[in-house]
Amino acid sequence: MKITPIIGLEVHVELKTDSKMFCGCNAEHFHAKPNTHTCPVCLGMPGALPVPNKKACQWCVKLGLALGCTVNEYSFFERKNYFYPDLSKSYQITQYQKPFTVNGKITVQGQEIRINRAHMEEDTGKSVHMVINGEESTLLDFNRSGVPLVEIVSEPDIVLSIQAKEYLLKIQQLIRYLGISNADIEKGSMRCEPTVNLKIEDNGKTFYTPLSEIKNVASLTGVQNAIDFEIERQTQAFKETKEVKNSKNKTTRGWDADKARTFLQREKEGSADYRYFPEPDIPPIEFTPAEIEEIRMTLPEMSEQKIEKYQTIYGLSDYDAKLLAEDQNFAAAYEALFDTEFVSKDQDTLKVFAKFAANLFLGSIKTYLNETQENIDSSKIVAKYFWDLFNSVQNKELSSSVAKQVTTESYKTGKHPVEIAKEMGLIQVSDSNQIEKIAKEVVVANPKAVQDYQKNPMSIGFLIGQLMRASGGSANPQVAKEILEKLLKNPTL
Ligand SMILES: [Zn+2]
Repeated sequence: MKITPIIGLEVHVELKTDSKMFCGCNAEHFHAKPNTHTCPVCLGMPGALPVPNKKACQWCVKLGLALGCTVNEYSFFERKNYFYPDLSKSYQITQYQKPFTVNGKITVQGQEIRINRAHMEEDTGKSVHMVINGEESTLLDFNRSGVPLVEIVSEPDIVLSIQAKEYLLKIQQLIRYLGISNADIEKGSMRCEPTVNLKIEDNGKTFYTPLSEIKNVASLTGVQNAIDFEIERQTQAFKETKEVKNSKNKTTRGWDADKARTFLQREKEGSADYRYFPEPDIPPIEFTPAEIEEIRMTLPEMSEQKIEKYQTIYGLSDYDAKLLAEDQNFAAAYEALFDTEFVSKDQDTLKVFAKFAANLFLGSIKTYLNETQENIDSSKIVAKYFWDLFNSVQNKELSSSVAKQVTTESYKTGKHPVEIAKEMGLIQVSDSNQIEKIAKEVVVANPKAVQDYQKNPMSIGFLIGQLMRASGGSANPQVAKEILEKLLKNPTL
């Protein structure tokens, strides 16, 4: 029996526009007092008329373009009708037949994942469950009602849960690069709903298991675990019942993160059940080719382009390039090092510097930012400091490990890293006369170790250690080793 998972992802992203999708209310809802960012439009009062938010529509198109989608020059909004307590109008304004953008694709770990569509819609309000006066109660907060939402629907091209996670990370990175949403999964400004079923080949026959759509997954790890659970559950269910997919048995399942399992919520409605029809209060939306081009021009350099640039121009490894490009602001701070008067015109030196600076960015600054949970502050990155540090290491005044150490300190304090090294007594002595003097003392003081060396040259480590100690750690270890070897091979020196 051969089992192939068929996984698709629906992703909802809240846009961080100032106002909501169809009214002028403040779209920020995370810290607001309940029901203070509302008006007749987003409360669904009779007679209130929606007016589309132009910026939100343009951002949706921008996102579609970044996903390689085609923009529909003619599109319109529709009503999706269903009742839910936090859906004040009993319908959601969304796009169905003519979404803004369709047919894109992105590459995730070398595999192409097709994007069916990225369309514009509005968010619903929130039901808040709590105990009041000893009774289980549900309160409604409409601050989120009408916040602009983009839905990105993938084709079911994903076959592994880890791929689903990577896909989401890629989408999240892309959205953050565009600056249109915080795309924070834990806070709910990015929400993911995997759809999962299985293709099972058994004795020359092919079966498809019923499709599950999984809701309420609030973390990337949760998405991965929910998919794995569902693959296992459907495999067992097929073995027991041989139930196969038909038009009726599409189900919605919830994800219980504590119990690490999915549970049946409801038999899923088909799209016909929602009675979609064109929104009569909003005229169709048209984008001219010139307008689409204008939006395309606002696309920033994306991570793929940066990764390629880092490899070809700066000679970085694929691994380093990817890490640097992960966060747009971090990448911009790195790139600013090359946009200065200090930059070397010599291509070889430039590449050596690029690698040196990448090591400091990834080894020191990123580590520090991860520890402190901070974002990079580009004002604390001074190009001259990095070039000076680079020259000091090239001149063997500083070791690479000291450079790492003082970079973090310099980022924290704003002080020149070479000054910090001087103050901490970390400047290396590479002057061979000075080191030779100490080396001679070490050789005289350690006759046993010298004898050991004559039998086993590998034991030189001990003498280097003694020399480093005698120099207070300031001797350049490479120079120290060379001088010691010279002395030991010619004891008469
Ligand atoms: Zn409103």
